[in-house]
Amino acid sequence: MTDPLSLPFDLPVFSPGHVWLVGAGPGDPGLLTLLALHALRSADVVVYDALVSPAIVKLARDGAILEHAGKRGGKPSPSQPDISRRLVALAQEGKRVLRLKGGDPFVFGRGAEEAELLAENKVPFRVVPGITAGVGGLAYAGIPATARDANSAIAFVTGHDSDGAVPDTLDWPALARSVPVLVVYMALTHLEEITRRLIAAGRRPDEPAALLSKATTPAQTVITAPLAEIANLARGVEPPAMLVVGDVVTYRDRLDWLGEKN
Ligand code: SAH
Repeated sequence: MTDPLSLPFDLPVFSPGHVWLVGAGPGDPGLLTLLALHALRSADVVVYDALVSPAIVKLARDGAILEHAGKRGGKPSPSQPDISRRLVALAQEGKRVLRLKGGDPFVFGRGAEEAELLAENKVPFRVVPGITAGVGGLAYAGIPATARDANSAIAFVTGHDSDGAVPDTLDWPALARSVPVLVVYMALTHLEEITRRLIAAGRRPDEPAALLSKATTPAQTVITAPLAEIANLARGVEPPAMLVVGDVVTYRDRLDWLGEKN
């Protein structure tokens, strides 16, 4: 087999004392970028989140130190400053530090906070984007993020803020009125309230909706139902999960290329 990293172009050198903030994608290891794989093969320490698939963490080079960041996606995380400080400390020890996060590091991943502390401490860093769940998960569910006849805009929304509540900073009525497709990350905890707010703000109770759980992994499940009913069907659905609201959901009837059995 050809080594996927013998390439006709150069990948950047992962230097000691640098931190790479890398997105691991939504689950399927095949969705890693070449830069992510290169980082896994070069890093001295991998600090990874719960959201990152074990199959991906295993791609780290032999001898790399693997550190679970001890943070669960979706929950308020008092340990976040500790994680950021840990990255600074490891880099200052001269390690090649790979900070591996689910999806994309800058999409609801608190990657910005980590990068800011690195910048403040003059630790050199690189950001490697990953496929965010709102793109990769939808593709694996046979739901196009945009389709010419359905929507010309899409919004990625978080279902809870840093206190764990439904974000009040979001203008739900404006979102409901103006964005035809909503993808709600961290949707499970407040699913009922979120669907209620959307309907109160004018979304049709019978609007197509989908709940994607563990998308792109072998345990992927997808439930579709009218917006008004989907919260009733969510019992037993496991995190990580996201809500998709909009007519694009109906494309799944024709485009579910993955099928029930992965
Ligand atoms: N940085 C990540 C998001 C982190 S927030 C990204 O870009 O994807 C965590 C939320 O992401 C989860 O609550 C869930 O809503 C969503 N998520 C992440 N991976 C997922 C997956 N495989 N399937 C469904 N939702 C997922």
